[in-house]
Amino acid sequence: MIIRIPAKPVEKMSFDFEAEAKQFLPERVKSDNLIKIAGELNKIDGGWKATGSIKYGFEYNCDSCTKPSKYSKTINFDEVYLVNNNEDQYHFDSNEIDLTQLVIDAIVLDMPTRLLCNIDCQGLCPVCKKDKNKNRCGCSVDEEKNNPFNILKDMEVKNNGTTEKKNIKTKV
Ligand SMILES: [Zn+2]
Ligand SMILES: [Zn+2]
Repeated sequence: MIIRIPAKPVEKMSFDFEAEAKQFLPERVKSDNLIKIAGELNKIDGGWKATGSIKYGFEYNCDSCTKPSKYSKTINFDEVYLVNNNEDQYHFDSNEIDLTQLVIDAIVLDMPTRLLCNIDCQGLCPVCKKDKNKNRCGCSVDEEKNNPFNILKDMEVKNNGTTEKKNIKTKV
């Protein structure tokens, strides 16, 4: 992701890269796809302003239910490269501008801390490990003991029990 600065002065440079996405992504996700980075550099006082977009995607397992899922997004960036190095700024030297760190940072900022298959994912039941998105297993979970709605759940269970007994009687 390196842009060479030409010897003769220019005001603007455009760039368009394709590279393996893997090298820009955190280890917890995987990708065999390419990442596309396009934009331009405009000369400013003491450096360059980089603007453009990053199109990327990856595969992951849902943090809640482990279902394999895909993510893909185009994000925009607008950053400044200054000749004086400073920890908060991107640096460049007289010959080249390296966009690698900018791309990594933009992706880290964009990526959700919890990667879910769906925003409403119910996850796996901690008791029976079944996928709660697919079926309601009815297990009672300790964490829910303080939940005021728990009484309603107990009633549901009792009603179910009664229904079962009735069915047995009918059979007999
Ligand atoms: Zn999920
Ligand atoms: Zn369960």
